[in-house]
Amino acid sequence: MRIVLFGPPGVGKGSQAQFLSEREGVAHVSTGILLRRAIRSETELGLKAASYVEQGKLVPGPLVRSLAEEAIAMCKYDRFVLDGYPRTIEQADWLAEFLVGHGAPLNTVLSLVVSNEAIVDRLSKRRVNKITGENYHLDFKPPPTDVEPGVIIQRRDDLPEAILHRLEIYQQETHPVQEYYRLLGLLQEIDGTGTFEEVYNRILTAIKHSEG
Ligand code: AMP
Repeated sequence: MRIVLFGPPGVGKGSQAQFLSEREGVAHVSTGILLRRAIRSETELGLKAASYVEQGKLVPGPLVRSLAEEAIAMCKYDRFVLDGYPRTIEQADWLAEFLVGHGAPLNTVLSLVVSNEAIVDRLSKRRVNKITGENYHLDFKPPPTDVEPGVIIQRRDDLPEAILHRLEIYQQETHPVQEYYRLLGLLQEIDGTGTFEEVYNRILTAIKHSEG
């Protein structure tokens, strides 16, 4: 199972990929999580990436490429779901080259689709536990009240200005990646509205479909 979970920021890719990873025993490879970890640990890569991530800009491709490729190699080029990579055509080309070079081409690309209004709502109401990385939503999954103050935070790139910036970048740089995969016959669009379980079940059906 070699999958890309694709879609705009805030569409629910991260939570769905995490759940899929727990239920199906596949590795969840999120370049966003890997970058935030590198930034927290102040690694050389993290220091280079920090200002881009905070402003909601794309981190220079070679930095995320190395993170993604390392993580895919760790799971021996199989049983992974990629979340947040690739985000440009250049990254999609790198990924194809890397996977084909290891005899492990992608099985399918699942693109979650929701309206722009829903995305802004989800991102502005998202909160995160800065220690565990777990995401919450103020209305649908409120953060627990018994954690220390300051642990539940709003990501700086979830502030209104950064959200708009991220959506613009998505339209300009990332949306074309969807067409790239459509032309390759790998794309399956999935309705990302409804309950978490409804979306998850659509994802499972699409995965089964790709396995024939
Ligand atoms: P995410 O958690 O996927 O929303 O990613 C958070 C931030 O990490 C993005 O807004 C970018 O700054 C950076 N990032 C994550 N993945 C990539 C990527 N594939 N290419 C460039 N920047 C990325």
